[in-house]
Amino acid sequence: MEELGLAPVWRSRDGEMDQGRDEALAGASAEVIDSSVPLPISIGTTGAAGADSDRPARIVRMDWPALKQSVEACDACGLHKSRKKTVFGVGDETADWLLIGEAPGLDEDARGEPFVGQAGLLLDNMIAAIGLARGKNVYLSNILKCSPPGNRNPDPGEVAQCRPYLSRQLALIRPKLILAMGRFATQALLATDANIVSLRGRVHTYQGVPLIVTYHPTYLLRTPADKFKAWEDLCLASKTMHGLLAGVQSPTG
Ligand code: URA
Repeated sequence: MEELGLAPVWRSRDGEMDQGRDEALAGASAEVIDSSVPLPISIGTTGAAGADSDRPARIVRMDWPALKQSVEACDACGLHKSRKKTVFGVGDETADWLLIGEAPGLDEDARGEPFVGQAGLLLDNMIAAIGLARGKNVYLSNILKCSPPGNRNPDPGEVAQCRPYLSRQLALIRPKLILAMGRFATQALLATDANIVSLRGRVHTYQGVPLIVTYHPTYLLRTPADKFKAWEDLCLASKTMHGLLAGVQSPTG
């Protein structure tokens, strides 16, 4: 795992798990957990623009251009006042892989693109380790499309207002697999307050799509000792994807 700063170097070879990856995966069961339970947050009532109960219904009908325009013009929560740019998401709009982070940071706010700072570099290396590249069969997005000032955590009202955008992206992309990166994205998607440790190593589902949990690249920059766990997660994701492409059901256990 040179890309993750780990040795020895283990690489994906056309879907074959080499010995190192098999070992890395050894502890990971692949239980399927359906999380179709909606977030306990109401949509359309807490935004800066006031109540707009039709908004989710409008977003659900949008095509890509309309959705992008809608995000760019969004003032549904207070984040529109402090943002420089909205960060819609980037990548292959028909990707098999959908990677979801938390919210744009300062760099992303300035550039209007997700994961462009140091965490983005690590993310690029992480996905390269399983044969993926940004924009090639990969779509990258965040729970929030605007940066919370001072890098603070997103608040539930902001998540609720932004959720229809991610749902619509998901419906348009129709990915085969979601990789939820970090505690915040994971908890928001799976509607749980369980920690990452307890959610890793299994296949969950979000809106009918298999979802695998891993650490956020920013966390891994601070805690490189956990990079090997992220590698295990990527191995599970890669193995799950190969199973999905081969038409094999995710094993339960
Ligand atoms: N962290 C995130 O969760 N998303 C980004 O786009 C950048 C940093």
